[in-house]
Amino acid sequence: MSAKKRLVYNGRHGLPEGTRCFWCGSGDANPEFILNPGGSPLLACCNQVEYEKAKAFINKDNKVRAPYYLVLFVLLVVNLFFIGMDIHTWWSYAPLLGICLTVLVWPAVFTHYEFYVRLGLVKTRRVIRFIACAVALLSMLAALSVL
Ligand SMILES: [Zn+2]
Repeated sequence: MSAKKRLVYNGRHGLPEGTRCFWCGSGDANPEFILNPGGSPLLACCNQVEYEKAKAFINKDNKVRAPYYLVLFVLLVVNLFFIGMDIHTWWSYAPLLGICLTVLVWPAVFTHYEFYVRLGLVKTRRVIRFIACAVALLSMLAALSVL
């Protein structure tokens, strides 16, 4: 697909006002590098390099999404079960730690790509990883406190 073709898709020559780069979050999103032609909202990148990276992310995300959510769901259920049963031993924090580690490995917790646009994918993932690290640390401290 040539850059020219993407430029004129849908008869639209530019991006809607305020469109941010899906990858880095800058305001330089380029109508030549639209990830989801015809989609709403449009996801665009600044340049070819970011476009390729974003494309790779979306492809991988589509593949891992189902098992990823399944793992998170199971861990969440186990976690809630422990909370509900009022179990307070060091291993009762394992599911929470598991959730954090799962998110660290693949920090794609949002079901819609629009949520990444505000900060850009790179920064959003950094924020998600930071929170996951913080919660992981807390869960380990909590586990240590009941040893
Ligand atoms: Zn960018």
